[in-house]
Amino acid sequence: APTTGKPKAKRLDHHLSVESTVREPCVLKQAAKHLKNPGLISLGGGLPCAEYFPFESLSMRVPQPPSFSEAATRVDGIDVRIGKYDVTDAASADASEYDLSIALNYGQANGSAQLTRFVTEHTELICNPPYADWRSCLTVGSTAALEQALRMLCDRQRHDAVLTEEYSFSTALETAAPLGVKVFGVRMDKEGLLPADLDAVLAGWDERARGARKPHVLYTVPSGQNPTGATQGEQRRRAIYQVAQKHDLYIIEDEPYYFLQMEPYGEGKGEKKKKKKDEEEGVEGFLRGLIPSLLSMDVDGRVMRMDSFSKVVVPGSRLGWITASEQMVERFIRHAEVCNQGPSGFSQVILHKLLDETWGHEGYIRWLMYLRGEYTKRRDVILAACEAHLLREVVSWNAPAAGMFHWLKVDHSLHPDAATRSILEIEEDIFNLCIDKGVLVGRGSWFRAEKDTAPTEMFFRATFAAATPENMTEAIRRFGLAIRESYRMEG
Ligand code: PMP
Repeated sequence: APTTGKPKAKRLDHHLSVESTVREPCVLKQAAKHLKNPGLISLGGGLPCAEYFPFESLSMRVPQPPSFSEAATRVDGIDVRIGKYDVTDAASADASEYDLSIALNYGQANGSAQLTRFVTEHTELICNPPYADWRSCLTVGSTAALEQALRMLCDRQRHDAVLTEEYSFSTALETAAPLGVKVFGVRMDKEGLLPADLDAVLAGWDERARGARKPHVLYTVPSGQNPTGATQGEQRRRAIYQVAQKHDLYIIEDEPYYFLQMEPYGEGKGEKKKKKKDEEEGVEGFLRGLIPSLLSMDVDGRVMRMDSFSKVVVPGSRLGWITASEQMVERFIRHAEVCNQGPSGFSQVILHKLLDETWGHEGYIRWLMYLRGEYTKRRDVILAACEAHLLREVVSWNAPAAGMFHWLKVDHSLHPDAATRSILEIEEDIFNLCIDKGVLVGRGSWFRAEKDTAPTEMFFRATFAAATPENMTEAIRRFGLAIRESYRMEG
């Protein structure tokens, strides 16, 4: 077993909210354990009979590794079928460990055993947490997982607060606000959150001045951070973990972009070279090249890692998973039982068929390698467009090393109205000019962790995930025009 010889995670009762502590197991879900008894006739749970499920089978065509493109899939894709009784019908050509009769019925709130096994093996392969009693549990995606986690860890009455990057994922901020959980920002550089600032913020915490208890939770996006695109290197992550240990922080590691770690900008230019590189390094090399996760460093069991299929398979699956200590996962499941009851059976059975029974771990990792290559190309297109169309005196940036966001700093001090208009006003002016010229970008101020303070810098967020290369280039050209117009520059 992978866990042999490892110590157990620390008990973290003191991190739990009252709401989480008082949750009781769902009696109906508990009763389901007796269903395993041979010969037992259940008149217990209100599970409808699969006979009345109006789905006999599903069929789909999916890419055949390693030819993942749409064009290749049209020609050479693999046709797979999911039947209603593939598990029990021994005569079925589609014999499987999972089928529609199981997936479409009620199940446990932590998700099906079948898909949980796959993500657990995947997590062991990628993160291999250094303590014994870790567990993965399926979620309906990281948005909901974060809401559950915050309610598990934070108490309004206790004036709990969360630390995060000074520019943070806007939905995460919007999740915390109505829970009465204050969010405070930690300064960043191009590798994201600064451990020294994290330490300083905590060491100098003044409850009165801040209107909140010293934070015991850190929410961070280590790879391809949204919105800044910043990626924490290995040393950075180790330093952040150390500060978390020093101040007894619980870390929520939100990693939807973990596998979109790209090749360094300017290296391996050209698709041929890139293809060759993947062939040379193979699956093993790809895995070795990934920056270690915080979970992989988590000797204490103080990290909850959130993975999501949104950015690496499909957002509409509404499927992801968390990995944390048994204690924390158990509390998380108690909440899931009384809210979303785990992910959709359709999603689970379709992803299980694709990932476990069709691709397998290696095929899935090859898919992730393919995506990494695609995002690298897109990143290179947006950077080339920025170099061609933006004035370097006014606009500056770092090349993103992961994810799908490019973060553009626009020097407001050079704006002709800098003395008379606020940064927010200038930002709004540029944003509106962008819309007039036919390009939508994100305003940096949307992402500020501490919105009640005045910004000192101006940023815009552009994604390279969505548009075609031609449109992306045109969009950046328009962004450049909007800036020139706002700055009243010629040409
Ligand atoms: N976390 C971050 C940092 C994100 O950028 C996103 C999506 N934009 C999410 C979470 C949401 O993920 P999901 O679709 O799994 O809810």
